Formats: sequence, C-alpha cells, structure tokens
Amino acid sequence: MGLIVQKFGGTSVANAERIKAAARRITETYDAGNKVIVVVSARGQTTDELIELANEITDKPSTREMDMLLSTGEQVSIALMAMAIHALGYPAISFTGGQVGIVTDSFHTKARIRNINADRIRKELDNGSIVIVAGFQGIDANENITTLGRGGSDTTAVALASILHADRCDIFTDVDGIYTADPRKVPNARKLNKISYDEILELASLGAQVMHSRSIEFAKKYNVPLYVRSSFNNSEGTLICKEIDDMENIVVSGATVSKNDAKITIRSIPDVPGQAAKIFHEIAKKNINVDMIIQNASVEGRADVTFTVPRSDLKNALETAEKIKKDLWATEVLYDEKIAKLSVVGIGMRSHCGVAEKMFSILAEEKINIQMISTSEIKISCIIDEAHAERALNAVHKIFGLNHVKNEVAVKT
Ligand code: ADP
Ligand code: ASP
Ligand code: MG
Repeated sequence: MGLIVQKFGGTSVANAERIKAAARRITETYDAGNKVIVVVSARGQTTDELIELANEITDKPSTREMDMLLSTGEQVSIALMAMAIHALGYPAISFTGGQVGIVTDSFHTKARIRNINADRIRKELDNGSIVIVAGFQGIDANENITTLGRGGSDTTAVALASILHADRCDIFTDVDGIYTADPRKVPNARKLNKISYDEILELASLGAQVMHSRSIEFAKKYNVPLYVRSSFNNSEGTLICKEIDDMENIVVSGATVSKNDAKITIRSIPDVPGQAAKIFHEIAKKNINVDMIIQNASVEGRADVTFTVPRSDLKNALETAEKIKKDLWATEVLYDEKIAKLSVVGIGMRSHCGVAEKMFSILAEEKINIQMISTSEIKISCIIDEAHAERALNAVHKIFGLNHVKNEVAVKT
C-alpha cells in the first residue's frame, strides 16, 4: 500500500463534469490500495476573476485581504471535490490549508511554507478517508490566511508529498506533460518523457508556468518523484526526477520566454564602494526579488545600474528606486515593462560549449536586439523587446533542434 498525492489544476476542475472525472481517477487510485491525498486549485479562471474584482474596488488592495479573497477559490473546489467523491460512494474529507497546519511566513500573496503539522491528515488517512486539501494557501503564525503566489497549488501538493514521504506526486494538468517549450507558443514543441529537477526548476523560475518553481525545490530536497500528466487522457506524462547519466547528452532540454519582468535603470550613480549594497538592501527590504543586474563601466566617476524585477512589483520597486536616486545623488530613474526574458536550459551545457554563441547568433539573424544577458551553469537568458518574444522563442527552439529531441526511456505509470 502506497501513499500518493494527486494535484488537479484549475482547468482540471473547471466544471462539474471535470470534477466528477477527477473524482473517478482519485477513487481508482484509492481502489488500487493506496492512501490518497488530493490537492486542488480554484476552478478555471476563478483566481483571475477574483483579482479583477478586487481591482474594480481599489487599485491598491491590502495584500492581507487579497489573500482572504483568493483563498476562497480553492475552498469552493475542495468542497465540490469531496461531494463528487462521496457521490461515488467513497469516504472523503476536505480541509483548508490552515486546517491541516500549513504554516507560512507573513508575506501575503507570496508566502513561503515554514512548516506543516500533518497530524490531522495522517489521522484521516488512517481512518480510510481520501483527504482533500485546498492548494495555494496556508496561515501565518497569527492565523492570517496567506497564499503562496500564482500557481502555488503545485507547491502545496509537493510539500505535502515531501512531509508525508509519499511514494509519488501526480500533477494533473491541461497538457500531456512537460514540453521542450510551452506548446501554446511553439507548435513544434515535443513532450519530454523525463526531465531533471534542476532543469525544470530553471524552466519554471524562468517563466514556464507548467510548474510552480517552489514545488520543485521541495521535490528535489526530499527526492519526491513528480509525474506531470494530462487530466483529460491516459497518455504518458513526464517524470521529474534526479539527474541520470544519459541526460547530460542533451545539451538544451527546453526553452521558455516570459513577460513577467520589468527593467529599471538608475542613472549616474557615484561609482564608489557600497552603492550596490545600498540599492539592493532597499529593494530587498520591500521583499522584491531582483533577477538580472548589470552595471555599466563608469564614466567620470558615475555609473548606471540596471536590474529586473517582477512586473507585479514594478510600482513598488519604482517608488524605492526614486528614494534611492535621492539618497545616492543619482540623476534619473528609467523603466521599461515591455521586455521579455528568453531562456534556454539544459544540464548538458555544463559539458558542452558554444550554446551562448548559438543563441546570440540566431537572435542576430532574426535582427532581435539583446538588452541584458545572464547565465548560470545550465541556462542562458536574454532580455529582449516583448514584441519579439514568440518569434525569438520559436527561433531558438528550432536552432537547438528541440523539435527533434528523442527520449529513449519510457516512463511507467
Ligand atoms: P494548472 O492549472 O493545471 O496548474 P497551468 O496553467 O498552471 O495549469 O500550467 C499548464 C500550462 O503551462 C500549459 O497549458 C502550458 O500552456 C503552460 N506551459 C508553459 N511551459 C510549458 C512547458 N514547457 N511544457 C508544458 N506546458 C507548459
Ligand atoms: N489558483 C491559484 C492560481 O490560479 C493557484 C494555482 O492554481 O495553483 O494561481
Ligand atoms: Mg499551475
């Protein structure tokens, strides 16, 4: 007898029919002799609609109240899922994140899980119930409801799988698995049979929405195998697992482009020690994640610093940048939110050279200007004009031969 966590995303529980179909899958897993924990997202576009509603009320909603509002989407889904399972004649009980002891920090709308007291879940599993947990939410130390950031239900599922030592965590979604690029943007993208934690972590952090990046951090740390698959059919999905030998042979495994960032430049900062520390200390105090940073060569003792932040934090970051400008006697703050981050990822990059050159050449051929570049051991990212995002993605996808990636090892379900 195993313990399996099954997560169903928004599209997979969008209406009564889909909830019933998900319930059938869950009970099949239960009938096979497993204990089952189910994590569900809000139905369909519910979270977007709730955000829109809040924005109709005010353009600066309190983040605490935003979490109170957004968490309701998942609460609707868990109750309906429990009812659907009951209707099939099986025992099931639903819980909010707070009710099953998912304790987070207090950074509303992007909270991180601190600990989970899973006693209640264990008790219900031992009683024979299918346990249904609302994804994307927890409570902080003062019992305020928090949410984990967009796409955070994946993290709820994987965190529960980790803490309870689940045998597997299934992520049911609206695509057949993880592809070499978002199949909505690249029609020739190919499904991967397997991908390493490190590669999907990079892809997810760089904007491949298919998995919440925090979820992969948990899975990697606790070595939980994740299986991403379609909730609409039975085709083989993608196994996310530890790196295995033959993976290094594939230089680039995937490509992604995101329009989630904005670029800020603080111009003409006196080029003396300690300035960067001051700038990024102020930004960090606001809990804003800075991604790329460049400083140009100083001219007459002054330099420009450019950095990217999540677009959703732009307003906040600009207010901080204006303050920094005054404090540091800089001359100007510029920004651009019409940028895109194009990235290629692959663990094979560690042992193969020429990847950057190939990426830059194809962008040159496409006459697409590169505004910023950043690299790590297994990824290369370029900031480009948002208008070229999809064209650039398709071009790099093709040049790295991703249309033809072959995966020899079949994944067993
Ligand atoms: P869910 O609601 O099930 O969590 P999401 O919308 O969060 O689903 O994630 C699934 C979507 O991720 C897909 O519909 C697809 O458009 C997108 N996506 C982006 N990059 C990839 C990729 N490399 N492989 C598969 N899907 C991707
Ligand atoms: N409902 C939340 C969102 O739309 C969380 C999730 O679906 O994972 O972002
Ligand atoms: Mg998702």
